[in-house]
Amino acid sequence: MIKAVTGTKDILPIEIPRWNYLEEIVKKIFSQFNYREIRTPIFELTQLFARGIGEATDIVSKEMYTFLDRSGDSLTLRPELTASVVRAFVEHSLDKKQGLNKLFYVGPMFRQERPQAGRFRQFHQFGAEALGSHDPLLDAEMIIMAYDIIAKLGLKKLVVKINSLGVPSAREEYKTVLRDYLNQHLDKLSEESKKRLELNILRIFDSKDERDKSVMKAAPLLIDYLDSESIDHFEKVKSALQNASVPFQVDATLVRGLDYYTHTTFEVVSGSVGSQSALCGGGRYNGLVKELGGPDLPGVGFAAGMERILLACENENSFKAEEEKTDVFIITIDKTLQGFSFQTALALRRSDLIVETDYLSRSVKAQMREANRLNSKFVLFVGGDEFVNGEVVLKNMSNSEQKNISKGNLEEIVKLIKVN
Ligand code: AMP
Repeated sequence: MIKAVTGTKDILPIEIPRWNYLEEIVKKIFSQFNYREIRTPIFELTQLFARGIGEATDIVSKEMYTFLDRSGDSLTLRPELTASVVRAFVEHSLDKKQGLNKLFYVGPMFRQERPQAGRFRQFHQFGAEALGSHDPLLDAEMIIMAYDIIAKLGLKKLVVKINSLGVPSAREEYKTVLRDYLNQHLDKLSEESKKRLELNILRIFDSKDERDKSVMKAAPLLIDYLDSESIDHFEKVKSALQNASVPFQVDATLVRGLDYYTHTTFEVVSGSVGSQSALCGGGRYNGLVKELGGPDLPGVGFAAGMERILLACENENSFKAEEEKTDVFIITIDKTLQGFSFQTALALRRSDLIVETDYLSRSVKAQMREANRLNSKFVLFVGGDEFVNGEVVLKNMSNSEQKNISKGNLEEIVKLIKVN
């Protein structure tokens, strides 16, 4: 038997109501903040991610699904969507149409990571990007949206961590200080971190290696080297969050290793999903649009992992998705009337009802069981003496009331079902 590829999983019909519920909330909250949906291709030229995410990142250096297509172009399945959204923004000159573009997306991403609970090779993210404004209120808006969506799902054990990376010049200065410090402790660092010292020094803060952790505990922090403009920006973000009643903690070790990241970074972490605890992450990236060949415009955004959020919801039992209901199940008593049931089902569906009938020549009892399993609000009996008398019988499953209706009177059936 051929199985699904390692790290991918099927989302079966029974799980779909939870996914739909999450997507409904996501779309509702994004639209309340006036973000518009964008859909970009599943694959892009590899170069886009190499430049847009950065060669030195784990994603680009070891996790991308990259392949040559038949014309020899190097293509990559999207590992995240910020680079794609910015590419589309630049390609379609969206900045010429309006000063500020607020965009959101929902969809699958692909990374060849080691699969574990909450970590997959195909997973889904929703996220938002606001392109064109330096306003720190937009940094706060991202965090508020992420928080509101996650809180609306009923999750309780949440921590919002925020930090500021400041502007690149202050960061460069700080990197020299950090490098000096780490050079003094070189013998205590892991091999991986020694490599990062040259390539992506800030990412050493993300290391899970105990040796690195103890060195980093006493490391100088970027937040102490911020210039006044960056401090002012950060203060405005914090005060907007306070006013929005979003509880947060400043975590000076929350870094994003790329040069075009500026000012705010944030993460929402859950206490109920084990080691893969980050539900979402984001920040401001004032250098990215230019890096990808566009105008020198600022941006800010975030992405959230949907599998992880749903896992946290399951572990906290935070919401119950509404079960799918069928309006009416047509029970065929007399097998020779299957054609009539099929036609009636079709006519009722075309009148906007959710309808099912029997395709397995089941007994009346088995059809009743099926009607119950589908949470049918009504059943319609087709057959027996009533049918001979030109009638069908509509039964309301919530109060067991039955009504005989002339078999040709579909309008009456539709009316009775719709008022309930
Ligand atoms: P990132 O784009 O790496 O900042 O990730 C943003 C969010 O996407 C994370 O906080 C996770 O919730 C989710 N995520 C990232 N990678 C994976 C993965 N391999 N499997 C499942 N979720 C992921």
